[in-house]
Amino acid sequence: MLPTKPISAAIHPQSTAASIKARLADVHHAIVSCERCPRLRDYCRAIAIEKRRAYREDTYWGRPVPGFGDPDARLLILGLAPAAHGANRTGRVFTGDGVGGSGDFLMRALHRNGFANISTSQRIDDGLTLTDAYIAAAVRCAPPQNKPLPEEITRCLDHLDAEVAQLRRVRVVVALGKIGFDAWFQLLRRRGVTPSPRPQFGHAVVCRMKGADVPIVIGCYHPSRQNTNTGKLTPAMMAGVFKKAKVLIAD
Ligand code: SF4
Repeated sequence: MLPTKPISAAIHPQSTAASIKARLADVHHAIVSCERCPRLRDYCRAIAIEKRRAYREDTYWGRPVPGFGDPDARLLILGLAPAAHGANRTGRVFTGDGVGGSGDFLMRALHRNGFANISTSQRIDDGLTLTDAYIAAAVRCAPPQNKPLPEEITRCLDHLDAEVAQLRRVRVVVALGKIGFDAWFQLLRRRGVTPSPRPQFGHAVVCRMKGADVPIVIGCYHPSRQNTNTGKLTPAMMAGVFKKAKVLIAD
């Protein structure tokens, strides 16, 4: 539900669940077949061939990773990018980056708050479903050292834009990490929303923008191991963010 470009609600007032699903599938096809960032595409392919020893029997996905979740979601979770041996291997966002990795950490918090049916995210065939929540990433290809270049973030924003345009009910965005947070506000600027002063990233910071249909944004430390292993982000802190999101959605 973004203001200046309410593609699905305004241009397609007759949208049905089936037509939204079909358009989302088109968006996902465009993401999966994207080759616009040669540096990232080369890296993802190389990782998929080299593999990590623990996953040498796996066939890596090695392509850009689309979003995952409930098309009727009121909660959007925006991460940074696929992990080289996680989503770049499994093909599902926040999936397969090891036991206790960012996928498990995130899913435990979502499960605690009723957004996910299981509390782990290790395999694409694990039966995970999200209710009222959708997960996407600012950048859809795994970047070296988890550091996408600014121009890669800007380029990939087209995919986020297209995907979010199909998620007509989003009321709250939880942005994981500063890159996800800044990417979201870059997208808003594209759509003519320019909050002043410019929101600054912080954990559990809540940003409300003018306009009834502009989603509320909550910042959250990224559940990467460097944050979760050091105690910078604890399970209680992350669950607390989604508890807050739940309250804001219901407001
Ligand atoms: S990062 Fe995004 S824009 Fe770049 S190649 Fe991957 S999907 Fe395409």
